[in-house]
Amino acid sequence: GLPTLYIVTPTYPRAEQVPEITRTAQTLMHVPNLVWLVSEDASVSSPALLSYLNESGLNTVYLRVQMPSKYQKVKNKPRGVANRMAGLNWVRSNGKEGVIYFADDDNTYDIRIFEQIRWTKKVSMFPVGLVTSLGVSTPIVRSGRVVGFYDGWIAHRTFPVDMAGFAVNVEFLLQRPQAGMPYKVGYEEDGFIKSLGIKASEIEPLAFNCTKIWVWHTQTKKNDPAKPVAQNNATIGTNMDILKE
Ligand code: UDP
Ligand code: MN
Repeated sequence: GLPTLYIVTPTYPRAEQVPEITRTAQTLMHVPNLVWLVSEDASVSSPALLSYLNESGLNTVYLRVQMPSKYQKVKNKPRGVANRMAGLNWVRSNGKEGVIYFADDDNTYDIRIFEQIRWTKKVSMFPVGLVTSLGVSTPIVRSGRVVGFYDGWIAHRTFPVDMAGFAVNVEFLLQRPQAGMPYKVGYEEDGFIKSLGIKASEIEPLAFNCTKIWVWHTQTKKNDPAKPVAQNNATIGTNMDILKE
């Protein structure tokens, strides 16, 4: 059969959480043989998230872990690291074959990327569209091999890629029990891929030699919370908790 796709989605409670999870879920409904690990960074589980996951019919695993308190205090936090690691460790304990992919809750996915990463033998990479003037973060491919990277911030990274721009074979991961993601802002991807001990020449370029953008690093605009202004709840015809007295 098809190799299993383990999709690890870090999420956290905020007004945007359920809409982001809704968009991601509706995409993943088109993807067969999938385990969706939704890993929440929270001290208590969000009931609306849990009920959405239960109603979705998707093959979900819910995990909850909090960002260590020393990182919660700093301004530039290593977002999603503790919860991605919880997903990674779940796959280490429960996965035998297939592919793991880190899919943030707020990105935009074309289902073609899932059918391509499914066949990753070691580590695959592909472009990530950016909604900035840069336009994309991508491996540079010559004659079918990754020879460099295009990204707005190369820094001193060996693998200057976006979190959504790579996937890893599960058996390959299981052979590397020390591999993990550092709590180092900006270096999470690079640190993780380096910990896998892979050479750039071994990377499998996908999306037609990295010529297609099948995942976008999108962000939902933060809105100021509006004050409730409903004056006649009886006519609204809703049972949402927010309108209950
Ligand atoms: N995230 C998290 N805890 C946080 C902040 C973010 O688990 O305190 C998750 C978030 O839901 C997303 C991922 O980590 O799936 C990356 O966060 P965000 O989208 O805010 O980062 P950006 O894309 O702006 O770098
Ligand atoms: Mn994001």
